[in-house]
Amino acid sequence: MQTRLFIGGAFVDAIAGGTIPVLNPHDGSTITHIAEAREADVDAAVAAARAAFPAWSRMAAADRGRLLLKLADRIEAEAESLARLESLDTGHPLRDTRGLDVPRTAATFRYFGGMADKLQGSVVPVETGFLNYVQRTPLGVVGQIVPWNFPLMFTSWKMGPALAAGNCVVLKPAEITPLSTLRIAELMAEVGFPPGVVNILPGYGHTAGQHLAEHPGVDKIAFTGSTATGRRIVQASAGNLKRVQLELGGKGANIVFEDAFLPAAINGSAFAIFHNQGQACIAGSRLLLHEKIADAFLDGFLKLAQSIKIGDPLDPSTEMGPLTSGQHQARVLDYCQIAHQQGGEVLTGGAPPQVQALSKGFYLQPTVVRAKPTDRVCQEEVFGPFVSVSTFKDDAEAIEIANGTEYGLGGGLWTQHLARAHRVAAAMRSGMVWINCYKRVNPGSPFGGIGQSGYGREMGFEAMHDYTDAKSVWVNVDAQIPPWYPR
Ligand code: NAD
Repeated sequence: MQTRLFIGGAFVDAIAGGTIPVLNPHDGSTITHIAEAREADVDAAVAAARAAFPAWSRMAAADRGRLLLKLADRIEAEAESLARLESLDTGHPLRDTRGLDVPRTAATFRYFGGMADKLQGSVVPVETGFLNYVQRTPLGVVGQIVPWNFPLMFTSWKMGPALAAGNCVVLKPAEITPLSTLRIAELMAEVGFPPGVVNILPGYGHTAGQHLAEHPGVDKIAFTGSTATGRRIVQASAGNLKRVQLELGGKGANIVFEDAFLPAAINGSAFAIFHNQGQACIAGSRLLLHEKIADAFLDGFLKLAQSIKIGDPLDPSTEMGPLTSGQHQARVLDYCQIAHQQGGEVLTGGAPPQVQALSKGFYLQPTVVRAKPTDRVCQEEVFGPFVSVSTFKDDAEAIEIANGTEYGLGGGLWTQHLARAHRVAAAMRSGMVWINCYKRVNPGSPFGGIGQSGYGREMGFEAMHDYTDAKSVWVNVDAQIPPWYPR
């Protein structure tokens, strides 16, 4: 297991010698200690990335792509050990890391491997006698800061497009979940990424993260995390006016209309909130139910929530693991109290499971709370297996409630009425909408939000654009230009 910083193609100790403990969320035990990157390590990593940039950006795009494709193959060859490492570090059940996180990570690196030589510029039809072409040029050194909820998958979301476009990367994983990212660094070195093209620096946000966001040698900062930290990133970026891309929090509305096919809506809505213990920015954390089907829906939904198998993430039959940290478990439990205080009704869950074998871990039962759309639990991101339920009378009210938070990341709706589906999707203030499904993602489909959920897009051509500049080149082919200063 790699525990040191990855700088300039080598694993090295932190300059100041500090370490960070990494805990197992299943039982609170210490898995290992990792080197703690501080400001001086960030400086070294940015210098290594800057040194690697000229050759990397000039390398044929297809050759950069080939390295990403090789990496995707290596990830697939290492699928089982990566899935286990991710489950150990984050608490994601093995069936999810095997079935979703690892395959999606490989697929995303592969997609951007293929994309490297597909990103074309354009020729602009301008005045006769001139040629104007636009090239997409890499930005330079990109700082990337990611959270703890999908650490492995986010290596590919962040690094895939940045590297394919010809940038060099300094990535800071979250301090509590660095292990799979360090393993990816090892695989990258193995498949032949040149030294300095990728640098991985586990460290705390207020030191290493802040320094990276402020760094004058960094041309863009791409951040996934909370809205509060996103604001600090924007301020920190001002010194050299670096580009900023923000994937922040969400409060996904999941609307079930009276004509929905209920078995699918119930199952899909449970996946929307309980997958990964609800620790997903796109989680369907606000269930909006048409009043005519609310009771029937809740009957099935509560039964399903109560039947979810909670347990050791490394047990392949486990359906829900622990939250990723004790601090976060306490935060989600606080929201159960807040719901009570504001007159909400906890319909199920609201406490850790009463199981001796899980008592040292950061577990929480699937929690369903009836609440008013204006209550704090319907407005603030809880980021746990915690869903609020409210009812509505008609489409207009559903849309008003759905759009009634400061966020705008993802949302879903369940209906068999074709026109209603598209009408409501169009009216939702949201970067992503799912109709009769929830939380679908694909490397080709743009991912990101509006409002307090951030700006910029991951995935697809959108991401490649966000990691490049448009460079406009003018050529006088045969134009006779009259002199501007006739002499
Ligand atoms: P966080 O904002 O506290 O931390 C995210 C990352 O930022 C971590 O690596 C952390 O070390 C770093 N960081 C913290 N302070 C920093 C600073 N001052 N300067 C630079 N870096 C700093 O968030 P979290 O608690 O780790 O993650 C959960 C949050 O992330 C949730 O709110 C969730 O919605 C959001 N999230 C959003 C998306 C998305 O794609 N929109 C995806 C996942 C998570």
